[in-house]
Amino acid sequence: MSKNLTKRSEDYSKWYNELVVKADLAENSGVRGCMVIKPYGYAIWEKMQAELDRMFKETGHQNAYFPLFVPKSMFEAEEKNAEGFAKECAIVTHYRLKNDPDKPGKLMVDPNAKLEEELIVRPTSEAIIWSTYKGWVQSYRDLPLLINQWANVVRWEMRTRLFLRTAEFLWQEGHTAHATRSEAIAESEQMMNVYADFVQNFMAIPVIKGLKTETERFAGAEETYCIEALMQDGKALQAGTSHFLGQNFAKAFDVKFANAEGKQEHVWGTSWGVSTRLMGALVMTHSDDNGLVLPPNLAPIQVVIVPIYKTEEEFAAITEAAHTLVSQFRKLRISVKFDDRTTQKPGFKFAEWELKGVPVRVAIGPKDLENGTFEVARRDTLSKEVVLKDGIVNYVSDLLEKIQEDLFNKALDYRNTHITEVNSFDEFKDVLENKGGFVAAHWDGTPDTEEKIKDLTKATIRCIALDRVEEAGSCVFTGKPSVGRVLFAKAY
Ligand code: AMP
Repeated sequence: MSKNLTKRSEDYSKWYNELVVKADLAENSGVRGCMVIKPYGYAIWEKMQAELDRMFKETGHQNAYFPLFVPKSMFEAEEKNAEGFAKECAIVTHYRLKNDPDKPGKLMVDPNAKLEEELIVRPTSEAIIWSTYKGWVQSYRDLPLLINQWANVVRWEMRTRLFLRTAEFLWQEGHTAHATRSEAIAESEQMMNVYADFVQNFMAIPVIKGLKTETERFAGAEETYCIEALMQDGKALQAGTSHFLGQNFAKAFDVKFANAEGKQEHVWGTSWGVSTRLMGALVMTHSDDNGLVLPPNLAPIQVVIVPIYKTEEEFAAITEAAHTLVSQFRKLRISVKFDDRTTQKPGFKFAEWELKGVPVRVAIGPKDLENGTFEVARRDTLSKEVVLKDGIVNYVSDLLEKIQEDLFNKALDYRNTHITEVNSFDEFKDVLENKGGFVAAHWDGTPDTEEKIKDLTKATIRCIALDRVEEAGSCVFTGKPSVGRVLFAKAY
């Protein structure tokens, strides 16, 4: 296995693309902007799904499934949402092909098979779901409605990158309906907190919780809550969003309920989603020039055992010891692989598992069997230790926990040293160009200033942090009054 990864310091973007492909996570497909997620990458996504699904159910949500297609008239019903997504829709106009009379062996769209109404391939499912909720909600007793769906969506993105931005992506989308405004707001906040909890404690990625500005808000939402992460190259990544929809969709789809006094009211809504983009965040936060670094909570293989031997007898003895070890790990629910391939040398195996980010490697050689020891190596620090055979399973179990914690703390350190307060536009540009990360600056609160700053620097307002300190100041760009700093960054 030759790694030959481009170094992060040489070309971060190239490093990322190469790593995603070489570590067998995903590859580009024959379809523009769409990727193939390979088994190793999909195994990580499945772990994310399982944990998120558990968290959604723990907070009272149920899964359901809605159609892939949205009739155009239904799509149009909530105008702002429709307008926001109109620029990136795939549209089905026909339902049949036929043989092309002029080109033997080729097919053409059958002009006689035009749909009466075009179908939009869902870029998000508010429209189809709210049109359904109309039939599900009559009385306050039907509320709240707490539904999630695991699905694929299509957004016709012009510039795509594996996982981070694809034309088709996998995600989950929660869609809830409530009797009161405050209950819907509490739900949006709760789901932002669920996402933050998951991304920080499961993926070991620190995030900032905040509100989007009007410009960056989800089309059709009254408020967008988000979690923002920082990648190793100093660019920010929106890791998850949770929207308070007000009564916008309820009004557009006429979803009303009779309250306890029998009066008709429109319901209040939320929607929230995270996507396969999180896979990109995972790679970009922890990995290094040798390959992937996976937090133990998400690693499909947490421990790999590699035998080191010369003779058949040695291999047989090591295999026996390894099998014992495997069953001990399994009892503790640690996922373990004994790499007993006889076709590859230990050096090759070491490099391969390093590239694939397996958190812990245990090497067993003839000397170890004599001494009652094993060599335990950490993927994140590349450090090695000789550990006594007795108690090794608990040692590794503790080590996995420590690695999970250390990865988070390392990323947190990086993130914290990359939030820089600036007080002039020169300083703003200087930090953005030479240091990167989040730039905490005063802003006058207008979309106009936000756009001008974006045009000049490519930086956008990532969020208004929920824990920001109110502080009077003047906008770095216009000098107009501001009530507190917001976080700008270049973003994926
Ligand atoms: P939204 O519905 O726009 O709030 O997005 C929901 C989630 O999907 C957010 O976490 C976004 O970061 C993510 N997302 C949006 N567009 C894409 C895309 N083209 N590829 C992957 N993830 C995306």
